[in-house]
Amino acid sequence: MLVSAKEMLTKAKAGKYAVGQFNINNLEWTKAILLTAQELNSPVILGVSEGAGKYMCGYKTVVGMVNGMIDELGITVPVALHLDHGSYEGAKACIEAGFSSVMFDGSHYPIEENIAKTKELVEYCDKLGLSLEAEVGAIGGEEDGVVGNGEVADPNECKMIADLGVTMLAAGIGNIHGKYPENWAGLSFDTLAEIQKLTGTMPLVLHGGTGIPAEMIQKAISLGVSKINVNTECQLAFAAATREYVEAGKDQQGKGFDPRKLLAPGFEAIKATVKEKMELFGSINKA
Ligand SMILES: [Zn+2]
Repeated sequence: MLVSAKEMLTKAKAGKYAVGQFNINNLEWTKAILLTAQELNSPVILGVSEGAGKYMCGYKTVVGMVNGMIDELGITVPVALHLDHGSYEGAKACIEAGFSSVMFDGSHYPIEENIAKTKELVEYCDKLGLSLEAEVGAIGGEEDGVVGNGEVADPNECKMIADLGVTMLAAGIGNIHGKYPENWAGLSFDTLAEIQKLTGTMPLVLHGGTGIPAEMIQKAISLGVSKINVNTECQLAFAAATREYVEAGKDQQGKGFDPRKLLAPGFEAIKATVKEKMELFGSINKA
């Protein structure tokens, strides 16, 4: 059964580790992430962007697939199904479809409008026992056509949004979606420390987890980050493993063209990436 992300993140914040959000794109992705979480006894958050939701036919299909897998794979670790960077309308649609958690990304609105819309969704989610992630200060890079400038959030604005009663808060601290450029300045730990001081026990979310050096991840966790989003890294691992299979000509040997064989190396590569991240984040055996 799907659960809200509230309890797993409250525990993570108190225990100084982070729960990974791994974005899904299809059946193989979802199965690889769920099986790895179960094998490692780790809580997990499945992230779905609006674009990926559309790709998978719509939110109801996603909910049906994930619920079916939890049942038929015998998944007993806590699993949250979470909308990533949702619009106000997208958040409502996911709640109706059966998601257990949503992110409303109002970071591109003026702060007053971000507050007004976030507040409405807090009430809606509270009534249904769902978790809600809000964002202050856009995350750099591009995600599904939403481009941010790599802002660093204003800690006082973070406090204003946190005080509305959201479950977790994403704040830009110099992090970027996708691959990090050579000249990246690194995470702004001063900003993170300031946000943490003002928001207290609120679990903080680090987006753009791909390619942030391990020491920076660990430092961010020590400063109150308890949810880390990973997306691009699984895509790169899947693509590399699939390329290797095809370039080795394995799809032309025997029944190597069978999609269940063709997609198997990519599936294993996602599992390995998720395992590596769960080790780094410290969420193993925390289910
Ligand atoms: Zn993000």
